[in-house]
Amino acid sequence: MLDADFFRRWMTAAAVSVDREAERLTALDSPIGDADHGANLQRGFRAVTAALEKEAPATPGAVLQLAGRQLISTVGGASGPLYGTLLRRTGKALGDDGEVTEEQLAQALRAGVDGVMALGGAAPGDKTMVDALVPAVDGLATSFGAAAEAAEEGAVATTPLQARKGRASYLGERSIGHQDPGATSSALLIAALVEAAGE
Ligand code: ADP
Ligand code: MG
Ligand code: MG
Repeated sequence: MLDADFFRRWMTAAAVSVDREAERLTALDSPIGDADHGANLQRGFRAVTAALEKEAPATPGAVLQLAGRQLISTVGGASGPLYGTLLRRTGKALGDDGEVTEEQLAQALRAGVDGVMALGGAAPGDKTMVDALVPAVDGLATSFGAAAEAAEEGAVATTPLQARKGRASYLGERSIGHQDPGATSSALLIAALVEAAGE
């Protein structure tokens, strides 16, 4: 079973990973964006860890909803509301349970990813974070490791795609040949699940 502590470890591991990879995320956002993705998420996840320390929410759902609210209120870019929606919807779907199963998490994350697609209008293949998140949810049916691997593969597979959503879509065909920064950070977020599980 996964308790609030597990979800705190997930968010903390994601924050550490975003800190470590911030320069790379910003570099990916340079040719097909405005070179701020690393800084955006760094600001957001620092606020997440600070809020979790201060408020110490008691349930998995409350941890993710607090994290989502912090991302929405501190990240200016497109990714803030999208990641915020992902975590808030996922947290909401987990309800008030003190502990949840991996299967509950997989179902809740699917609701979260549906929320991202509804808000941003992106479908798989549009060269966005959705291209890492959808395969991750499918992989979660197997294990955290399978989800992380699927997310990473999904991120890498955005390189030959032409962007149809977000800033990168303004570049048209010139967006081809670059890995999407948001899909890359989504793969980091899912990889952090493996760390939280101590696998
Ligand atoms: P901004 O583009 O506002 O500077 P960021 O650089 O933080 O925001 O985030 C860019 C990432 O957000 C993109 O790489 C993409 O993965 C994701 N993104 C942008 N628009 C959408 C959308 N409509 N749906 C899903 N993801 C999106
Ligand atoms: Mg940007
Ligand atoms: Mg920006």
